[in-house]
Amino acid sequence: MGIIESNLQAIRKEIPASVTLVAVSKTKPKEDILEAYEAGQRVFGENRVPELADKSEQLPKDIEWHMIGHLQRNKVKYIAPFVSLIHAVDSLRLLAEINKEAEKNNRTIKALLQFHIAQEETKFGLDLEEARQLLRSEEYLAMEHAEIVGVMGMATFTDNEKQVRDEFRTLKSIFETLKSEFFLNNDSFKEISMGMSGDYQIAIEEGSTMVRIGSSIFGSRG
Ligand SMILES: *Cc1c(COP(=O)(O)O)cnc(C)c1O
Repeated sequence: MGIIESNLQAIRKEIPASVTLVAVSKTKPKEDILEAYEAGQRVFGENRVPELADKSEQLPKDIEWHMIGHLQRNKVKYIAPFVSLIHAVDSLRLLAEINKEAEKNNRTIKALLQFHIAQEETKFGLDLEEARQLLRSEEYLAMEHAEIVGVMGMATFTDNEKQVRDEFRTLKSIFETLKSEFFLNNDSFKEISMGMSGDYQIAIEEGSTMVRIGSSIFGSRG
């Protein structure tokens, strides 16, 4: 058994069946993705549009590709034909572009609202009030081809477990608030994308439904 397959098996043992494992393959070659694919993995995450578009073209068609990184509006068109979930939507303008490109491709594109839960200044994301404004806006309410199915966030990169746990709790509570205010009768709004290689166990304890794991599967990115 190769190292990627054994890493995957070890991680799957720790993750409840109800939690989706997104294998983050950014910067890794196609051979590595194929090794994970042969081991049964079908959901992969990338954070750069050209790399994502290139890999999706050359790898098996039953892979579900997730765009997990910051997405610029002018690049939505390159992934709109095939992307299965966009994790990091942090503006109405980006969501409008996704809706427009999804309509051109005769499909609906699922997306998560990204929240800023970390202490770090550099990370993208909305706060609760900005999300409420987005969800109340007429422009959003008129969209028929972009579907918000949950929330996403990244905790601070720190050894302080309590801080990481508190940040994940914050995201879970934002999810519950939005669910009760906007999505009560909408079963599709159910995803909480949180947890990476360094903190996914904590994220799962705090209610994650989707973990994005790269280096623990494919090795460090050097
Ligand atoms: C790279 C990346 C990950 C995976 O990080 P690892 O620490 O390698 O597991 C998860 N989420 C996002 C948004 C990323 O950019």
